[in-house]
Amino acid sequence: MKVLVPVKRVIDYNVKIRVKPDGTGVETHNVKMSMNPFDEIAVEEAVRLREKKVATEVVAVSLGLKACQETLRTAMAIGADRGILVETDADLQPLAVAKALKALVDREEPGLVIMGKQAIDDDSNQTGQMLAALLDWPQGTFASKLEPGDGTIQVTREIDGGLETLELTLPAVTTVDLRLNEPRYATLPNIMKAKKKPLAVMTPADLGVNVAPRLETVTVVEPPQRQAGIKVDSVAALVDKLKTEARVI
Ligand code: AMP
Repeated sequence: MKVLVPVKRVIDYNVKIRVKPDGTGVETHNVKMSMNPFDEIAVEEAVRLREKKVATEVVAVSLGLKACQETLRTAMAIGADRGILVETDADLQPLAVAKALKALVDREEPGLVIMGKQAIDDDSNQTGQMLAALLDWPQGTFASKLEPGDGTIQVTREIDGGLETLELTLPAVTTVDLRLNEPRYATLPNIMKAKKKPLAVMTPADLGVNVAPRLETVTVVEPPQRQAGIKVDSVAALVDKLKTEARVI
């Protein structure tokens, strides 16, 4: 079974995000970019499936600027067999990504798509669900455990009251949560090997997909500065402030 893993290039999670002065978005110039952390978990899981001989090939795919090649090389250093870049400088939104991924799924015919539950830049948490809907495939989101069976996969999901286990008939789409696994570090020899792995480049037009944005960002603003706290002299003063100033009791 072939496994397809979409990986997104995002601002590194350690970077303090700065809003552009004109409010059109966040600053990405001269900012460290990395693979979306949930996608690293997805790649790790796909590679483990190949190591268990459940998967035969792991294909990483990224949509975006040419620099996404780095993200694909990282996926290949973790263990993906090859990469596909759908190159575009368009402002990509989840529906456009899902449509392009559907076109790739139609070409590549994977048995399973494993992707992140959300990208930490837009926090949309939509692409996996949209892809499953476009393909009309079963979906198991927020997986904290994947258990492959015979033509099926069991997905354990974290829900409000505990854990839920679904059995999906393959082919299917799963999106992964933080607790699924701990991705391995890419070793230097594997980083070197990854440079030689095949990386195909195409455009959305090659896939027959229009990725033009359908939503307009009106403005982006910094969250309000948190006010400094104060010390009160007594419980009575605290209760008074909670009643009259914070109005929470
Ligand atoms: P989102 O719906 O934007 O929160 O993204 C959810 C998941 O969709 C991510 O974790 C990725 O696996 C995938 N994804 C979103 N955008 C892209 C992209 N530009 N390239 C590759 N995968 C993407």
